[in-house]
Amino acid sequence: MIESVSASIMAPTGPRRLSLGWESAQRPVPSGRVAFVSDLSARPRLVMPLAEHVAAYGRLPGGLTMRMVLDTLRAANLTGRGGAGFPFWKKLQAVATAESRKSPVVIANGSESEPLSKKDALLLKNNPHLVLDGISLVAGMLGAKSAYLYVKDREAHTAVNAAIRERRERGISELRVTIVEAPAGYVAGQETAVVRRIGKGPALPQFSLDRISSSGLRGAPTLLSNVETFAHVAMILRFGAEWYRQGGQGGDRGTRLLTLVGAVGRPGVYELSPGASLAELLREADASDPRAVLFGGYFGRWIDLGAPNTAKFPLDDQALAEHKLSFGAGILGVVGRETCPVVEAAAITEYLAGQSAGQCGPCVHGLPEISTAMARIALSSDVERGMHDLRSVIPLVEHRGGCQHPDGVIQLVRSTVGAFAEEVKLHRSGRCSAQGSHTSVLLPPGASVGTGGAG
Ligand code: SF4
Repeated sequence: MIESVSASIMAPTGPRRLSLGWESAQRPVPSGRVAFVSDLSARPRLVMPLAEHVAAYGRLPGGLTMRMVLDTLRAANLTGRGGAGFPFWKKLQAVATAESRKSPVVIANGSESEPLSKKDALLLKNNPHLVLDGISLVAGMLGAKSAYLYVKDREAHTAVNAAIRERRERGISELRVTIVEAPAGYVAGQETAVVRRIGKGPALPQFSLDRISSSGLRGAPTLLSNVETFAHVAMILRFGAEWYRQGGQGGDRGTRLLTLVGAVGRPGVYELSPGASLAELLREADASDPRAVLFGGYFGRWIDLGAPNTAKFPLDDQALAEHKLSFGAGILGVVGRETCPVVEAAAITEYLAGQSAGQCGPCVHGLPEISTAMARIALSSDVERGMHDLRSVIPLVEHRGGCQHPDGVIQLVRSTVGAFAEEVKLHRSGRCSAQGSHTSVLLPPGASVGTGGAG
C-alpha cells in the first residue's frame, strides 16, 4: 500500500467521498450507505476552489513509481465508471508497456453520451480538481506530455477551464490539459469516436484492429477512461487501496456515483457505498410504487420488481452479476405501475435506432427493423410478427457493427422480452397492464419518438 503524503488529512469515510463538501444537498439516511448529491438540474452547489480541495483531500502524493501505482490500483480493484467496468490498472499497464516511439496520451471522458446521465457533469462542476489530480498522476506516471478532457456540459467546461487556470497560476502541475468539446449524439462518447474527435475528426466510432492502448490518438498509446475513474485514482493514490476497499462490498468496493431517473420522487445523482440494497436506494429516492428498474443505461438490462423481495439484493458488482445486471454507465431508470416497460423499451429502441452513426449496413438497416418489431410488440399491433422479426433480424445484426451500438440495443431488446414475458403475452391478447396513455419516463428530454412504424 502506498503511504499517504498527506498524513494530516483524514481520509473521507462513508458514501460521501467524491461528493465531499457538497453537504448542502444531504439528507440524513439511516443506513448511511446512500447519499443524495444533487437533483437532475445537476447545478454546482459549491465549486470547490483549489485551496479547499487541498484542505479536504490533501496534496498530491509524491515519490510514486509505476510499480507502486499499478500494485495499489490492482489491490484496490478499481474498475472504470464509464460503462465497460474494465480494471483500471490493466488499462494503465497496457499503455505503460506499449511499444511505441510516441509519447503516451491521457484522455478523461466526461461527455456522458448517455442522455440521462448527470453524474460526470456534476462531478466536474463541483470538484474539477479531483479529476485533474487523477489525470495529472496518471499522466505523470506514463510520462505523457499532453492530456485531454472531453466534455459536453457547458457549465462543466467553464468549471474545468477555471480549475486548469488556477492550477497553472499556483504552479501545481505542468501538464498541459486541453478541453475538447464533445458534440451531442449517443455514439459521440464511444472510445474510438472520442479519439477521432480529439484528433479533429468527426465524433464517430471507427473500426480498428489496434487497441487505442497501443495506437490511439495520432497513433500514440492512449489511456482513455471516465472522469469519475480518474477522481477515484486521485483518492486511492492518496489514501491507499485498503481505505478504498472499506467503501463497501463486492469486487470493486469503492463508492460510485449513480444517476437515478424515472418514476421516483427524488430523481438525481447519488453516491452509493456498494452493499446498500436496491430497496434502500429506491426508498431514499422516494420511489413509491416502482415496477421495474433498467440497470446501467440504455444498453442495460431490466429487473422486474413484481416478485416479492426482488429489491432486497445488495447493489455491488458481484451481486449484480448474479442477477445478470451491471452498473454500466451508472444510470438506473425506474418505471412505475402506470408505465408499460415494453412500451418504454420500444421507445428507447426507436431513439437508439435514430442514433446510428450511419456507417455500417447491419446497424443502419437492422436497427430500424428491430425498432419496428419492438413497436409491434409494444403496441399489440402484431406481437407474433414482432417476435418473429426479432428472431430473424437480430442474428443478422449482432456482432456485425463497427462498434458496440447495435449489440447494446440488442441487449436491451432481449432483456425486455425476457424480463417481461408475461407482459408480452398480455399484449398478444391485445391488452396491457399499464393504464392510460403512455408517457415515457426514460427518454431524453426533447426526444420525439412515437414507437411508430409498426404498420
Ligand atoms: S455499428 Fe452503427 S453506430 Fe457503430 S460505427 Fe457502425 S453505424 Fe456507427
